[in-house]
Amino acid sequence: MTTTHVHRRPLAPHVMTYLVVTVPFLALLAAVPLAWGWGLSWLDVGLAVVLYVISMLGVTVGFHRYFTHGAFRCGRGLRIALAVAGSLSVQGPVLHWVADHRRHHAFADKEGDPHSPWRYGTSPAALAKGFWHAHMGWILERSLTDQQRYCPDLLADPDVARVSRAFGWITAASFIVPAVIGGLATWSLWGAFTAFFWAGLVRVCLSHHVAWSTNSICHMVGERPWKARDRSTNVWPLALLSMGESWHNLHHADPTSARHGVGRFEIDLSAGTIRVFEKLGWAWNVRWPKPERLEKLRATPEPGGRPAGQTSGQGV
Ligand SMILES: [Zn+2]
Ligand SMILES: [Zn+2]
Repeated sequence: MTTTHVHRRPLAPHVMTYLVVTVPFLALLAAVPLAWGWGLSWLDVGLAVVLYVISMLGVTVGFHRYFTHGAFRCGRGLRIALAVAGSLSVQGPVLHWVADHRRHHAFADKEGDPHSPWRYGTSPAALAKGFWHAHMGWILERSLTDQQRYCPDLLADPDVARVSRAFGWITAASFIVPAVIGGLATWSLWGAFTAFFWAGLVRVCLSHHVAWSTNSICHMVGERPWKARDRSTNVWPLALLSMGESWHNLHHADPTSARHGVGRFEIDLSAGTIRVFEKLGWAWNVRWPKPERLEKLRATPEPGGRPAGQTSGQGV
């Protein structure tokens, strides 16, 4: 059995990671039945789901796979739509997001990475601090990634630069639009407030934590079946909510691939969306993963297959 890329994390930070991630989420789930009927309606749920999906896909398909990594090409209309949709997730202007993320790939889990959980070392205390830093601490720092250096291509695009500058307005719309719809549909201020709360605040909070988990959890816990030069992992429980971004180990092994979840049961809604765009003729030159390439990138053997890099003559 191959032991490449295998690290064993001490129990304390391992348990802490799970607690920090799951307890607030469970509290939020517990609030749903408590509020149902008086402070939460089907309209609020519907608005929250629709806005969650649009804004998350804007980030995963748009900011990440398209703008950062060029996993496919598309026309001006879709380009602008993806930049606006991603901005609705309130994760920063598109130019900031792309610059930070390209820097993350350039220095993944090394000095210079804006959000590595391994920044402070591998002791339990260092990892606890590192988890906080990678999850959201880095966002609260004042340092900004140099856009001239990391995304000159996007700076030169007037459409993208305009959407990036309009981030404040798009953020306001991301909260005001659900409130207006909720208010008009129920013809009440209370309806406007509950829609604002669930489809605005709660939806943005959930999408933030899911997105940040790719930086924290997906560089700490999980499987490493692919040859990446960093500590990125695949984390299946986050696959659905993250729109396929939690197949993060494959992403670091093959950053320009349009599909991150390449296994038969690895759900990747972002790849599915890109496939629909391709079928509609809106996206082209899509970088779908090729079997030969995946075989080279595999770090661990397929179930029943032989370990990568070994010939059939070598025993296990
Ligand atoms: Zn990463
Ligand atoms: Zn990436």
